[in-house]
Amino acid sequence: MPDNVQIGDQLGGAFDAVIVGAGFAGLYMLHRLRGLGLSARIYEAGSGVGGTWFWNRYPGARCDVESLEYSYSFSEELEQDWQWTERYASQPEILRYLNHVAERFDLKRDIQLETRVTSATFDETANCWTIVTDRGDRVSAKFCVMATGCLSTAKVPDFKGIETFRGKTYHTGHWPHEGVDFTGQRVGVIGTGSSAIQSIPNIARQASHLFVFQRTPNFSLPARNGPLSPEVAQDWRVNRVEYRDRARAAPFALLIEQSEKLAADVSPEDREREYEERWRRGGFAMLGAFADIIVNQEANDTAAEFVRSKIRGMVDDPAVAEKLLPRDYPIATKRICVDTGYFETFNRDDITLIDARATPIEEITPTGLRTSEADYQLDSIVFATGFDAMTGALCNIEIRGRAGVTLKRKWSEGPRTYLGIMVAGFPNLFTITGPGSPSVLSNMVMAIEQHVDWIAGCLGYLRERQFATVEATVDAENEWVAHVNEVAGATLFPLANSWYVGANIPGKPRVFMPYIGGFAVYRQKCDEVAARGYEGFALCSGAQAASH
Ligand code: FAD
Ligand code: NAP
Repeated sequence: MPDNVQIGDQLGGAFDAVIVGAGFAGLYMLHRLRGLGLSARIYEAGSGVGGTWFWNRYPGARCDVESLEYSYSFSEELEQDWQWTERYASQPEILRYLNHVAERFDLKRDIQLETRVTSATFDETANCWTIVTDRGDRVSAKFCVMATGCLSTAKVPDFKGIETFRGKTYHTGHWPHEGVDFTGQRVGVIGTGSSAIQSIPNIARQASHLFVFQRTPNFSLPARNGPLSPEVAQDWRVNRVEYRDRARAAPFALLIEQSEKLAADVSPEDREREYEERWRRGGFAMLGAFADIIVNQEANDTAAEFVRSKIRGMVDDPAVAEKLLPRDYPIATKRICVDTGYFETFNRDDITLIDARATPIEEITPTGLRTSEADYQLDSIVFATGFDAMTGALCNIEIRGRAGVTLKRKWSEGPRTYLGIMVAGFPNLFTITGPGSPSVLSNMVMAIEQHVDWIAGCLGYLRERQFATVEATVDAENEWVAHVNEVAGATLFPLANSWYVGANIPGKPRVFMPYIGGFAVYRQKCDEVAARGYEGFALCSGAQAASH
């Protein structure tokens, strides 16, 4: 596309914007771009829209942020019309919701499914991106928006012998659409993160015997899920604006009651009472009990010990309970899990918990799995082993910015962004909930809406002033990366071997990827940057950009 073409001018075979991914982020981005009068196309690898909720169909999959909050806020009509049936919606219901959104806003005509974007290359002469797909599409676009998801690149560890297994294998993040019937089978689940914790109680009900291979025990809080009462739904309809505003002003964009008190400010009895009350409420409420849980080890220990005592109380066999107790990292520094009957499931006779740290998995065999201690005969293996989080989907695309430098190379020592939205050297390329933004540490739908709104505002600004490119400056990026690291360093988060620091992917640089400074603080920073004419970004007219 020549550089004298303004945003909004349509050329044959070219778009104002290409969006990669049709989850919560891609769908809303398309809607906003349409509202600006821009032409856009989404490319989506899956055969349907929904992203996370299209792929993760394992039994028990549901949100752990309450449905009323884990939904779009941008359309009052949508929010008034849609009725959630449970406090935490199940995967099929969320997928129905996202399909409803796509149809309601007539988005599907601009979405090309079953198409994986393989490369995106910036042309410095024409100031546009060339996007290539595995279907042979080759299109150009002024802007490229990566809505590729933080948790969309499923990871099966490189177990020796994996290809020899004669039974069936599944990854929770690529679950078969027709479902899986484990009745009468000996099933192995590898992993005990959120996906495992949600699926294990359900798989255990079907399998003749379930073997759970646990490397690191996890903290999990009871969901207390149930039907959404008409009173709660009605209250939300009436007060939705206030609730949404409160969430936007909260550290994690969540409506949990966040206490200002420190754990040491109260007596041990009062502390216990506070934890107990929040445990009873269910979900993330417990984490808001004291202001210093994630920054002070002693405060954190009180919360961790409370949860450990609950686990001991739920599991009948003290030896099994002992194995399930998380001990070697502070609570909440690995993503906290929210469950329905997880710990109680270990009271069944037909489940065995294997400590895969003491006795590591050595190889997958044709008939099952061998640890350093024993052979297990299995009909099916479920890999609940997580994702190459935050950078995986982006680095799987050959994204070339200025001077042909790839994003993968630029991020070889860890991701570098300005505000998690843009990367120096990659003009007109936006990353929704990219590393360096609160993203996975917050209610993701709120985080997505905030980014999409910001990007839409930025594109409107460029058009008004006839700028051809926007690009993070190296200085702004350096400062932001330093700030992200500094804030993380003031918390207990870097102490855990979590996917937040890439510890689940062998060889991945250890960098704390999301921004832990708080959603509200971050949002304010983004708004200020925009109000100051996109401070920290270089905005160029066509001619300037070409000679950059
Ligand atoms: P995604 O939904 O991941 O969508 C990205 C899409 O991009 C995918 O469909 C993918 O196929 C596509 N894509 C990627 N690369 C390419 C490519 N090269 N070409 C074409 N298409 C591509 N967050 C919460 O806040 N609360 C929750 O309760 C919650 N529950 C979760 C439960 C599970 C099981 C998982 C895995 C995550 C959960 N999350 C939750 C995080 C969740 O990922 C986000 O809330 C949200 O759904 C992300 O939306 P997205 O559009 O950014 O990304
Ligand atoms: P995860 O949290 O990364 O858990 C992966 C599990 O697999 C961990 O227990 C890990 O052990 C284990 N594992 C990985 N490689 C292994 C190996 N080689 N040998 C043995 N064990 C291995 O992944 P996830 O459960 O899919 O969840 C990812 C994120 O998605 C969550 O943190 C959450 O943000 C989101 N999610 C949310 C929900 C929800 O409740 N709404 C549900 C699912 C997912 P280690 O801990 O020792 O690495």
